[in-house]
Amino acid sequence: MIETEQHKYTLLKDIWGYTTFRPSQSEIIDIVMNGGDALVIMPTGGGKSLCFQLPALLLPGLTVVVSPLISLMNDQVQSLKLSGVGVATINSNMNSKEMSAVERLLVIGEIKLLYVSPEKINSPGFSTFLAGLNVSLFAVDEAHCVSVWGNDFRPDYVQLNKIRDTFKHVPFIALTATADDATQKDICAQLHLHEPKIFVSSFERKNITTEARPAEQKFKQIVEFLIKVKDQSGIIYCLSRKETEKMCLKLRQSGYNCDFYHAGMEADDRKRVQMAFQNDSLQFICATIAFGMGIDKSNIRWIIHHSMPKNLEGYYQEIGRSGRDGTPARALLFYSYGDYIMLKRFIDDSPATEEFKNVQYAKLDRMWEFASANECRTNLVLNYFGEYRSEPCKHCDNCLFPPKSTDATVIAQKTLSAVIRCKENVGLNLLIDILRGSYRAEVRDGGYDQIKTFGAGKDISFINWKIYITQLINQGYLRIDFTDHFKLKTTPLTNEVLFSDKKVRLADLTIGEMVVEKEKPKQKKLSPEDGLLKRLKEWRTNLAREKKVPAYVIFSDKVFDNIVESRPSTIAGLLDVEGIGKVKSEQYGQDILAIVQGTNVPHPEIKNEKGNTYTETMLLYQEGMTPSEIAKKRELSETTIYTHLAYLYMKDEPIDMYKYVTDDEVNRVEDGWEKAGKEMALAAVADQLIAPMDFHKIRLALAVIIKKYKK
Ligand code: ADP
Ligand code: ZN
Repeated sequence: MIETEQHKYTLLKDIWGYTTFRPSQSEIIDIVMNGGDALVIMPTGGGKSLCFQLPALLLPGLTVVVSPLISLMNDQVQSLKLSGVGVATINSNMNSKEMSAVERLLVIGEIKLLYVSPEKINSPGFSTFLAGLNVSLFAVDEAHCVSVWGNDFRPDYVQLNKIRDTFKHVPFIALTATADDATQKDICAQLHLHEPKIFVSSFERKNITTEARPAEQKFKQIVEFLIKVKDQSGIIYCLSRKETEKMCLKLRQSGYNCDFYHAGMEADDRKRVQMAFQNDSLQFICATIAFGMGIDKSNIRWIIHHSMPKNLEGYYQEIGRSGRDGTPARALLFYSYGDYIMLKRFIDDSPATEEFKNVQYAKLDRMWEFASANECRTNLVLNYFGEYRSEPCKHCDNCLFPPKSTDATVIAQKTLSAVIRCKENVGLNLLIDILRGSYRAEVRDGGYDQIKTFGAGKDISFINWKIYITQLINQGYLRIDFTDHFKLKTTPLTNEVLFSDKKVRLADLTIGEMVVEKEKPKQKKLSPEDGLLKRLKEWRTNLAREKKVPAYVIFSDKVFDNIVESRPSTIAGLLDVEGIGKVKSEQYGQDILAIVQGTNVPHPEIKNEKGNTYTETMLLYQEGMTPSEIAKKRELSETTIYTHLAYLYMKDEPIDMYKYVTDDEVNRVEDGWEKAGKEMALAAVADQLIAPMDFHKIRLALAVIIKKYKK
C-alpha cells in the first residue's frame, strides 16, 4: 500500500510533471485502485482525466475509456503519447487495417489505455474481445450523457450498463462536469454502478475572472479589450448568425486575425475554421453557441459575450471553455435591457408549453440578475447551481473593484413617482423618454407630456436611466409585469421611498475601465527586451507542425509561464518546473535549456530520436543509480557514462563528484595536470601522476579542476 502511495507520486511527477494532487484526485485514485466504483463531478479543467489515467498506469491490465467526443479523445491520446504512455483509440472512423493494428498491440499488452467511442464499445463482439484481454478499469467520461436529465442524452450511453454487468469485478469510474442531484442519481442507476463513492467538487472556476458591463459602445470596448489581451486565443459569442459575420468583418477591418462560425455554414467551412482555431492560426472566432461543443483547446484565454445568454447554464458552460489549462482566463459579458426583452420574446414565440416557458422565464430572470448584480458574481452562479457560499470569490469584477454606490434617493423618487403618475401603464423605454422630456408621438398620445415628472431627468442619459431603473427593479422598488406587456409596476417598497423618506443607494454609473485595464500588470522577472516566451512558443509551433498535434498538447501555456518565471539552466532545474515530467524533459529538455540560454536549438533531424543522451544519463543519476547501473541500463560503456557525468557537472547539473573521487585524488590530478602543462589529454596527465589512478577518476577530477579555474 505504501509502495502504491509512493508510486502514485512518482508517476505524477514523471509523466505529468506535477508534485501535488488537486483536491480529491488522490482519494478518487485510491478508491479505484482498491476496486471500488466512483462518480466524479468536477468542473472543466478540474483535472478529471488524471483520476483514471494515473490508475491506468498503476493497474496491471488495460483501462478502457469511453468518451463521446472524438476531438477530446484525440487530444488526450496525443498528450499521453508524447509522455511515453502506451495508448490507442478505437472509433468508427477507422478502417479494418487500422483496427487490427490496434488489436494486435492490445493482445500483446503494449497498450495501457484504450479510448473507445460508445457506439464501438457496444458493437457486436466487442465485449467478447475485451473479455479476452485483461481489463483492470473502465472509465466513462462525459457521464451525464447517460441521463435523460442531462443536456446531451445519448442512447448509446445507456447500453454501457451491459458492459458493467459483464465485467462485474472490474471497477467503473464515471466522470462529468455537470450533474445536479437528479442526474447524479440517474448516472449511478443507469450505469449499474456498485455502491459508488460520489465526489462533487466545487463548480467554481477560480482561474476565470468574470466581468459584466452595460452594452454601451460595445465595439469600442471590445477593441480596447482585445488590445489588452494581445494575441491570446478567445471566442466572441454572438446571439445570431448574422451578428457573428458582422462582428468578424468589422474586427478584420480593424486588423484582427479572426473568423466566424455558426450552424448555418457548410460542414467543410466549419471544420476549416475549427481546425485553424485549434492550431492557433486564428486568434479568435466570432461564433454562435453552436461553437464549442467538442472543442478542447486548452489555451483559450478569454470569452466575450457580445450579448446576454438566455440562462446561467449556457453562460457558465461557455465561459468554462476558457482556461482549461488552469492558467488565468477572462470572461467579459455585455448586457442590455434590449437583450433581455429579445430573449423574452423568443420564449413567448416558442411553441413550448406554458409550464416549460415559465421555467425559461425564471432562468432568464436569474441571468439578468447576474448581469446587473453589484455583488460577487461567482457566488450568484454557485448559489444558482445549489452550492451556497457567501465569502467573496476575489476573481469577479465586483469583488476585485467593488462598485461605488451613491445616494440616489432623488433619482428613485423621480422614477417611482413617474410610474405612478403614468398609472403603471408604461414600459421601461417609454418611462425613460418621459423622464427625459421627449416629445415623440407615444409620449404625446398618452398625454404623458402633461405629468409633473415629465422632463425631470433630462440631465441623465438614456442608457444610464436604464441602468438605474434596472437596479431599482433588482432592489425590489419596482417590478416588470410580464403578463402586461412588460409594464413597470409598483411594489410594497415603492411607498417607503415616496412617503417614508427611505434612502436609496445605487451603484455609481460612471462606467469605468474594464478589469483588464485596471489591473496592475503582474511583476514578472522579465527584462524589457525579453522574448523568451515568444521563442518558446515559436519552437512549440514548429514542433507541433512536425508532429501534427495541437501546440498545447506539447506543453501548456502554463508550463511556459513557469519556465519564464524560473529560467532553469540545468536539467535538474527543469524538472523542478511544474508541468515538466521526466519523459518530456528527456525529449525536449536540451531544446528548452538552449532556448532559455538564448542559444540556437539544434535541428530536430540531427538529434538522437530518443532525446538527448546526456539528459537520459542525468535522469537515471537522479534516480540514484550508480554509473555502472546506468551503463548497463543504457547499454553503454561505463567510460561513456563517466564522460557524461563530467559533462553534466561542467554544465552545472547537481552531480556530486565527490561520490567518485576524493579531495586528495583531485589534488594529485591537479599537480599532474600542471606538470603536463595544463594539458587536457588523460594520458598526458596520467603520465605525470606520482601513483597510478583509474582513467575515469582522472576525467572526473579534471572536470572539478576546470570548473574551479573557470570560476
Ligand atoms: P478536465 O478533464 O476536468 O476538464 P483535465 O483533466 O483536462 O480537466 O485537466 C485540466 C488541466 O489541469 C490540465 O492541464 C491538467 O494537466 C492539469 N492538472 C490536472 N491535475 C493536476 C495537478 N494535480 N496539478 C497540476 N495540474 C493538474
Ligand atoms: Zn466575486
